[in-house]
Amino acid sequence: MGKETGFLEIDRQDRTYDDPRERVKHYKEFSIPHSEEGLKNQAARCMNCGIPYCHNGCPVNNIIPDWNHMVYEGDWKNALEVLHSTNNFPEFTGRVCPAPCEASCTLNIIDQPVTIKSIECAIVDRGWKEGWIKPQVPEKRTGRTVAVVGSGPAGMSCAQQLARAGHTVTVFEKSDRVGGLLRYGIPDFKMEKHLINRRMVQMEAEGITFRTSTEVGVDVSVKSLRENFDAIVMAGGSEEARWLDIPGSELSGVRLAMEFLTQQNKRNAGDDEMRAAPRGSLTATGKDVIVIGGGDTGSDCVGTSNRQGAKSVTQIEIMPRPPEKEDKLMTWPDWPMKLRTSTSHEEGVDREWAILTKEVVSEDGKVTGLKCVRLEWEGRQMKEVEGSEFVLPADLILLAMGFVGPRKTGLLDQSAVELTDRGNVAADTQNYRTSQDMIFACGDMRRGQSLVVWAIREGRQAARAVDEALMGFSELPR
Ligand SMILES: Cc1cc2nc3c(=O)[nH]c(=O)nc-3n(C[C@H](O)[C@H](O)[C@H](O)COP(=O)(O)OP(=O)(O)OC[C@H]3O[C@@H](n4cnc5c(N)ncnc54)[C@H](O)[C@@H]3O)c2cc1C
Ligand code: SF4
Repeated sequence: MGKETGFLEIDRQDRTYDDPRERVKHYKEFSIPHSEEGLKNQAARCMNCGIPYCHNGCPVNNIIPDWNHMVYEGDWKNALEVLHSTNNFPEFTGRVCPAPCEASCTLNIIDQPVTIKSIECAIVDRGWKEGWIKPQVPEKRTGRTVAVVGSGPAGMSCAQQLARAGHTVTVFEKSDRVGGLLRYGIPDFKMEKHLINRRMVQMEAEGITFRTSTEVGVDVSVKSLRENFDAIVMAGGSEEARWLDIPGSELSGVRLAMEFLTQQNKRNAGDDEMRAAPRGSLTATGKDVIVIGGGDTGSDCVGTSNRQGAKSVTQIEIMPRPPEKEDKLMTWPDWPMKLRTSTSHEEGVDREWAILTKEVVSEDGKVTGLKCVRLEWEGRQMKEVEGSEFVLPADLILLAMGFVGPRKTGLLDQSAVELTDRGNVAADTQNYRTSQDMIFACGDMRRGQSLVVWAIREGRQAARAVDEALMGFSELPR
């Protein structure tokens, strides 16, 4: 424990951000990191609890009190080693994780939690800056080969663990670049993409081959993977977006959030956005935009619409407005339901809750509005409020209502793996095996739409399961 009385003396201070009026002019990250002294102080707030609930709150079970202590002591290199022992990509989670660890921090019961996420991010950013992060090339190769399908955080962490165990790993990715939703879902202003490129270089040096623009089930058959690899890991994500089935939703002014976000990320990368634009180029510039869906994807659409110069941005949600604050004695150490205001929300948006969409309003095939009705919620039952119908003006309606499971395409057909009732690939979290021999599944493809940190956890655990299946034992951590 760094400083025994740290939590009594020092208040929580998190990273700050550039002024919203300035940051909406660009797509770059805008957080202002702590000074070294500031980080040391924040790490000193950690109480090194006998039972550190933050370990369990964190899906990769980061050993948080240990690296907090090391940061307090100025021992950054060891802090990095401890952090990497549980998390392959802390620079991703240090930027985009919602930090359930902080909800379960013991200090959070009576005070503000330790700024765990910012400290995690600072440790790994420093590691890259100092040149401490190097490829970890295995001393021996096993001669076993593994095909990983999908290069999101699940596929990346799985591939990296397997390569470090000595296996020869090829990652197949249908997109033109590696990273999954980190690359084409999450906007650059939340996480710049050079961070993925840098890891890709490290992974290639560790012996991993990336085959981009190659869809398994289309460009390469599952049969050929079976013939050429000893094991297959399916990490293809949960890509089937939920569609809004109301009159008028077929109009071209109603678009999926991922179409919109992917195009902007491609523009930022200097790529031809039309390669991701089957229904044509799409921007919010000068438009009244309505985002349907209150989650991360919806928030990213808000931030991107503001950067593109939308005339107005409204985000609507079917569920009622959550409470401003949680009842900590009831919720701790679990993730509480409460109102969350993202940095994108701070940049400007009208947020409306308990709203049901009825119909897309149009003139000559052009979207002009969205007819809605207000709802009353009683427990899980919703009731339309009589006479509360209204029309919100809209030129562009973005659907950000979540994902219903993996796309039912060649990969699932050809592999013939069993699916769960919810349409995800069936595999348990003990051995990550699907119903087909030596085919494993992890990440959103197995668990359904989730978080980057859960994808990293599943990729790591699936790698251990594959290693055990190939070698009869595994020294990889779970
Ligand atoms: C807009 C948006 C914002 C988000 N923001 C956050 C956030 O802030 N924080 C957070 O923690 N989580 C966030 N998430 C969720 C998070 O991104 C996902 O949970 C995570 O990326 C899942 O990782 P994955 O590796 O399982 O799948 P994915 O990241 O979806 O990667 C799957 C990859 O598999 C590829 N693939 C699929 N089928 C094939 C095939 N047959 N052949 C070859 N390749 C294939 C896909 O092209 C894709 O690249 C967000 C999600 C979205 C959509
Ligand atoms: S990965 Fe997420 S939950 Fe785990 S320590 Fe980092 S911010 Fe917290």
